[in-house]
Amino acid sequence: MGSVGGEEAIEEAGKNHEERIRVSVRIRPLNDKEIARNDVSDWECINDTTIIYRNNISVSERSLYPTAYSFDRVFRSDCGTREVYEAAAKEVALSVVSGINSSIFAYGQTSSGKTYTMSGITECTVADIFNYIEKHMEREFMLKFSAIEIYNESVRDLLSPDCIPLRLLDDPERGTVVERLTEETITDWNHFTELISFCETQRQIGETSLNEASSRSHQILKLTVESSAREFLGNDKCSSLSASVNFVDLAGSERASQTNSAGARLKEGCHINRSLLTLGTVIRKLSKGRNGHIPFRDSKLTRILQSSLGGNARTAIICTMSPARSHAEQTRNTLLFASCAK
Ligand code: ADP
Ligand code: MG
Repeated sequence: MGSVGGEEAIEEAGKNHEERIRVSVRIRPLNDKEIARNDVSDWECINDTTIIYRNNISVSERSLYPTAYSFDRVFRSDCGTREVYEAAAKEVALSVVSGINSSIFAYGQTSSGKTYTMSGITECTVADIFNYIEKHMEREFMLKFSAIEIYNESVRDLLSPDCIPLRLLDDPERGTVVERLTEETITDWNHFTELISFCETQRQIGETSLNEASSRSHQILKLTVESSAREFLGNDKCSSLSASVNFVDLAGSERASQTNSAGARLKEGCHINRSLLTLGTVIRKLSKGRNGHIPFRDSKLTRILQSSLGGNARTAIICTMSPARSHAEQTRNTLLFASCAK
């Protein structure tokens, strides 16, 4: 366990504006189903930053795919979520209290651990923010929370019981906003956990009526932190601050991969996810420097996240992967995405 208040992380975040996107990879343990069918793992983290593929793949295949991949961090299957949070997300997430927008993404194929990882990271962040608030009585804080799901380019409010699709509006001051989105002011930890459970129920209701919804939909939980100095101390620009951190649990990355086989082509329409593909393009362009046209407006996800992706905003991506040999193909796609984001 590191420092709970995250003071150093916050200081780092304030200094380090131009840092590139932080990319990490987390391997989950083999699950019971995989163990039952004698699936094995061919992936090994050889240190904190490099993961290698050890299966005896043919020489021709070896030239197609790299066997070693390096990132800012890689996490073995026995790493707990606290450790993943501390090393991969904390600094980026806590920049919100310094007035810097940020986004944390979980990317990976269905069942690789995105929701498991992202919900843990969200909880750790909120706990750290509460701690920070307690230690900074000289400022007054307000925490606001909203939650949406994007399914088939349609946006739904996870804090509202009705399923009406919401429109996006371009606000001259705030950029793209979701019209009539519920925003709750979080009063304490219990209130926060109630809101999270409500969102989970809403997501599950969607799932029974919409086939495989969670693998096809993106969930964005947004936490906005506003603060102001309790006493006005001279002409200080920092007397009031406002920023948001977005926790993004993406659709299964298999929704971004195209297959060339003739039979699969017919299904392309329902398999390929526009928001996920556009996010890939946006992230690749941002990671190469922030010049030139970045197609934020090509999908709902990237439009909504624009103010938390470009410019001064901080971004962390945690790619989750199954260790199983049977998933090696999808895992390689995930690692290639992660490599392009660096
Ligand atoms: P996804 O959201 O990518 O579809 P989930 O987060 O739902 O995947 O994870 C699939 C299953 O694996 C869940 O039962 C989850 O509890 C478990 N799981 C995922 N990651 C881990 C991990 N790092 N350690 C232990 N169990 C995990
Ligand atoms: Mg999930």
